[in-house]
Amino acid sequence: MAAKRDPAKIAALEEDALTATARAHLVQPWPVAGSIGAEVRGGIAAGDGIYVTDQEGRRLIDGPAGMWCTNVGHRSEPIARVLYEQAMALSYNSPWYTTSEPSVRLAERLAAHAPGDLKHVFYTTGGSSAVETALRFMQFSNNVRGRPEKKLIVSRQGGYHGSTYLSASLNGRPRDHDWMDNASDQVVRLSCPNPFRRPTGMNVPQFCDFLVDEFKKAIERHGADRIGAFIAEPVMASGGVIVPPDGYLKRMRKLCAENDILFIADEVVTAFGRLGHVFASKDVFDIEPDMITFAKGVTSGYFPLGGVMISSRLLEQLRASNHSEAMFAHGLTYSSHPIGCAVALKNLDLLEDGLLAHTREIAPYFQAQLKTLEDLPLVGEVRGLGLMACVECVADRESNNPLALDIEVGKRIDAHCQRLGLLVRPLIHMCVMSPPLTITRSQIDDLVSILRQGIRLTMDELVRERLWRG
Ligand code: PLP
Repeated sequence: MAAKRDPAKIAALEEDALTATARAHLVQPWPVAGSIGAEVRGGIAAGDGIYVTDQEGRRLIDGPAGMWCTNVGHRSEPIARVLYEQAMALSYNSPWYTTSEPSVRLAERLAAHAPGDLKHVFYTTGGSSAVETALRFMQFSNNVRGRPEKKLIVSRQGGYHGSTYLSASLNGRPRDHDWMDNASDQVVRLSCPNPFRRPTGMNVPQFCDFLVDEFKKAIERHGADRIGAFIAEPVMASGGVIVPPDGYLKRMRKLCAENDILFIADEVVTAFGRLGHVFASKDVFDIEPDMITFAKGVTSGYFPLGGVMISSRLLEQLRASNHSEAMFAHGLTYSSHPIGCAVALKNLDLLEDGLLAHTREIAPYFQAQLKTLEDLPLVGEVRGLGLMACVECVADRESNNPLALDIEVGKRIDAHCQRLGLLVRPLIHMCVMSPPLTITRSQIDDLVSILRQGIRLTMDELVRERLWRG
């Protein structure tokens, strides 16, 4: 009798060796239970400039710049050189007992770019650990200052701040909390400042008043003496590139100052050039936060590094407190990594030597070209700022309803675009675009033209499958 054939083994044999090995051993981030530890994701083999090459040898425009991070583009020789040279000079030193020159030089350069009195930096390993650090610093600070009840954290629906326990507790996107535990007792969540989804009958200035008023009421309800911090991405990234109404951030900042609530600007995405400046808080939105968290673009993704810019005033308050023995018991083995800091220094050189100016110059063209996609009936809105944009699909323009979530329109568009030469970041019914900052006008034309074709093919498919009226 013939042996029973194991379908999983047959599938594995048909896959290439790398994919099969990944399926056998890798647990990918953000998996679903039904395929956890057995999932196949497309392999990327190489990168150069704004392009990546997949395992089949197809060259694709890297639409999301990795994960909003490869700001200077792939295969940057100056950065590769620094990685090698710093590894040969000093590959690691313990930040517990020592410092390295790159970490000090970088701190000085970051302080020069940061707004107001944000003259100090605490390095971390990425964005989640940066947010976690800012929150733990707020908690520590209020403990030392004798107000241990002032700990609530205010965040917004649609926000994304990370994957560690406390940072993840702030997240407010659909599905973030469905199956996960979180510190909900420490979080107050406000509405998403999305003008496209504002209540019917409200114009945008009225919507802005509504949002500010909501924060005021939350402060009254919970008490300013119980709220420690407000955290906001200046432009919500993973929530769908939400650019808040004019004046919103300034007014929220003012309310924080009036109520002694720390304003944490989560610039993990918006810093290091994405909006044309090293930090966007002051240069784009005219606000001076108490802390700014950063990661991703600080090394253009060549090395895991993040950090928190901290107000000198806050540190001074601690030094002047009655508890000189109180320890901020928080630090990471790779805080201040010399290779990460050396890479960040070179990355800053590249930004300052033309890439920030290029981004500011090219961003209006990028936004205008993407905006032309609004003539497609599946597209409800194209929005964005700098080199961040989102194409949001809707079932119909009258109601602006997103298509039923199970359709996953973004994934369909992504699949078509990948065949045509563009990698998309699909977010349920949205496609996010944040290419490397080195992108040129003609490359923007290619990106938009492929995206248009991808959306057209998706529309045809949805009509064929009777999932959309057209
Ligand atoms: N904050 C924001 C605004 C982010 O977009 C992200 C990641 O996408 C994070 C924090 C978390 O960063 P990381 O994934 O590096 O931990």
